[in-house]
Amino acid sequence: MLDANIKEQLKAYMDKLQQPIELVAAYDDSKKSQELRALLEELEPMSPKISLRTEEAENVRRPSFAINRVGTEIGVRFAGIPMGHEFTSLVLALLQVGGHPSKASQDVIEQIQSLEGKFEFETYFSLSCQNCPDVVQALNLMSVLNPNIKHTSIDGALFQDEVEQREVMAVPSVYMNGEPWGQGRMTLEEIVAKLDTSSSEKDAEKINQKDTFEVLVIGGGPAGASAAIYAARKGISTGIAAERFGGQVADTMGIENLISVPYTEGPKLV
Ligand SMILES: Cc1cc2nc3c(=O)[nH]c(=O)nc-3n(C[C@H](O)[C@H](O)[C@H](O)COP(=O)(O)OP(=O)(O)OC[C@H]3O[C@@H](n4cnc5c(N)ncnc54)[C@H](O)[C@@H]3O)c2cc1C
Repeated sequence: MLDANIKEQLKAYMDKLQQPIELVAAYDDSKKSQELRALLEELEPMSPKISLRTEEAENVRRPSFAINRVGTEIGVRFAGIPMGHEFTSLVLALLQVGGHPSKASQDVIEQIQSLEGKFEFETYFSLSCQNCPDVVQALNLMSVLNPNIKHTSIDGALFQDEVEQREVMAVPSVYMNGEPWGQGRMTLEEIVAKLDTSSSEKDAEKINQKDTFEVLVIGGGPAGASAAIYAARKGISTGIAAERFGGQVADTMGIENLISVPYTEGPKLV
């Protein structure tokens, strides 16, 4: 499944595992199950902290596998094989379930840990979807940080019956506790804010504690960022408030004419 170069890189990542993890696989007779078995059998020897066993429970999707932190309730599940755009999600899930810290801010981590209630998330993705990994990775991280949150990422191409029954029209499509909950690209912060009903008040409280700005720019896309940078460069005390920093730029993989690159040499004339 994995070429020699990827295997070597992945092995280096698996050295960062701090706690033992187990891969719990649910196979059936399909070709995809054979591929999943091959992948998991390649992953297991990459670290003495990884073990592999087969799922005993009947009522799980097949092929699927859970990544669990041994001796805890912490874990995430992938239904299908997370290659393509989801390969990074697999690597991050292995690392984070294995105790490697995430890069999320301490504020957001604490907000996730303090979420009350039981949340069972299911995300339908496709391997060619560029907006899916953000959502898959955010919900995986949340389930690592708070055992009340469970997350299964489902490759819609392999579970067509479900896709049709639930009328999933686009990916990523997120269900919570069996009900449609969200669609399209969402950041970790957006997901947390949607779950934490007191989030707006907390944000307002934080902003109230700040001194008044001479200029407050609303919007964090290229226009807002440029306006704020130029105001700040003139020594004006400047604030920037945005629903989502980056604006539309955050929705695309390739960008032409990007004006927010801090410095560039431009094309070389040889
Ligand atoms: C898929 C895609 C590909 C693209 N490719 C290119 C390309 O290759 N080259 C190119 O030149 N352009 C491209 N564009 C267009 C480019 O991204 C936009 O022209 C540019 O982002 C516009 O910048 P903006 O700052 O005016 O607005 P936006 O980027 O839309 O930013 C708006 C900002 O305002 C915030 N905001 C909105 N409402 C509120 C509110 N009520 N309260 C607080 N904040 C709010 C938003 O969160 C965001 O931060 C692309 C766009 C998309 C979607």
